[in-house]
Amino acid sequence: MPVTDAIVRRLHEVLLQVADIRGQIERAPKQIKAAQNRAQQARDAVTACKETIKKNRMDADRKQLQQRQYEAKLYEWQGKLNGTSNNREYQAVKDQLAADTQANSVLSDEIFEILENLDNLQSQLVGLEGELKTVEEDTSKAQVKIQDRIVVLRGELVRVEGELKQAEGQLPDDFAAIYHPLVKTSAEDAFAPLEDRSCGGCNTSLPPRVVDQLRQGHPIPCSSCGRWLYRPE
Ligand SMILES: [Zn+2]
Repeated sequence: MPVTDAIVRRLHEVLLQVADIRGQIERAPKQIKAAQNRAQQARDAVTACKETIKKNRMDADRKQLQQRQYEAKLYEWQGKLNGTSNNREYQAVKDQLAADTQANSVLSDEIFEILENLDNLQSQLVGLEGELKTVEEDTSKAQVKIQDRIVVLRGELVRVEGELKQAEGQLPDDFAAIYHPLVKTSAEDAFAPLEDRSCGGCNTSLPPRVVDQLRQGHPIPCSSCGRWLYRPE
């Protein structure tokens, strides 16, 4: 008994379902990993911001200490200025005083800038911590959802593989001998529907004789790609 296109069509349908479910199960860990990566990126951003804040604070502390030293020195120059004995000495101390006053003023500006930057960083940190919380919640929700989906998919796979076994059991013996090695190497690519006058797998135009045969419901392999062709519903 030759194989009918109804059997081949059904086999291909079930093989495609099996491939689709297996693909979804295989992609699931990658989706979980992607969600975890997003959470890690958000965590890294928070850590980096905290580090920058720490560095800026140390910078500000260091400069403030330096500023206190300058102020002590200015006070000292001021005292020396009053005790100078001649004009030349007076001018020299005055020049030093002016230079240190200038340096101290530059330092004050730098401290102000760092403190302002620290304010910005603090509000940035609040934002980043908010984002992290959201991303972490989303990630755990996504993980649960994907794991639940895997359970459902595994169940579907068992059911569809059962259907495949059943369909395979109905194959005429001579076609079964062709089918099993073919599916072993090509899986769902073992079959393709006729599309207009071409192979639905490789798009090659088929000779009229082959098209006729297919339209009459007799499956036949594509001479170009080897897929077994069938008449679509
Ligand atoms: Zn083909």
